[in-house]
Amino acid sequence: MSGLSVADLRVTYAGRPPVEAVRGVSLSIAQGETVALLGPSGCGKSSLLSAVVGIVEPSAGAVAWDGEDLTRVPVHKRGFGLVFQDGQLFPHLTVGANIAFGLEMAGMARAARAARVEELLSLVGLAGLSGRGVTELSGGQRQRVALARSLAPGPRLLALDEPLSSLDADLRGRLAVEVRDILRSSGTTGLLVTHDPAEAEVMADRVLRMDEGLLV
Ligand code: ADP
Ligand code: MG
Repeated sequence: MSGLSVADLRVTYAGRPPVEAVRGVSLSIAQGETVALLGPSGCGKSSLLSAVVGIVEPSAGAVAWDGEDLTRVPVHKRGFGLVFQDGQLFPHLTVGANIAFGLEMAGMARAARAARVEELLSLVGLAGLSGRGVTELSGGQRQRVALARSLAPGPRLLALDEPLSSLDADLRGRLAVEVRDILRSSGTTGLLVTHDPAEAEVMADRVLRMDEGLLV
């Protein structure tokens, strides 16, 4: 099976009583496809996404890519990227340096890095803004930089957790279409988490509904 497969994944947070945030979810996402997880706040969407990318350890179940088990593989070795609601850019770095960050970590040479940054800037519609400080950007521009930074290393899967929720409604609608087009044109497989049905419909090829820790 090519792409992502998730088998009977469970996430339980320790506590008294423990919280069973994800109670046995199985799904697959084909290479190049974008799937949205849609459900109300607290239903376990972020916990499921976090277990898929590897920032939360599942209590049971498995995550695989192209049939290769990744359940015990650390987050930076999965080849997955992540975009959060508020971007979480490095405020003291320029746009270009934010986008180059992961490339530098991966040991890419300076000239190749600069070329890749330019490529990503034009992909997200921010050509020419490489030298700008990220604190001088609008909310929508910041989310584009976050998207570019996550896409720069060429992840095989991009996980997006409510990526547009901090933006106003008008911009949210426009960026939803743009992000979908960017995922498609870069051939990136997507896992989108959202509580907004319209956003799920626009951005995803397929929408899965989640409630109380389960797909419904
Ligand atoms: P969603 O993203 O759909 O809003 P979450 O996955 O964030 O849902 O949360 C699912 C459940 O797990 C909620 O009851 C939430 O309070 C709980 N939860 C989330 N993160 C933690 C954590 N780190 N520790 C304990 N409980 C958590
Ligand atoms: Mg969440």
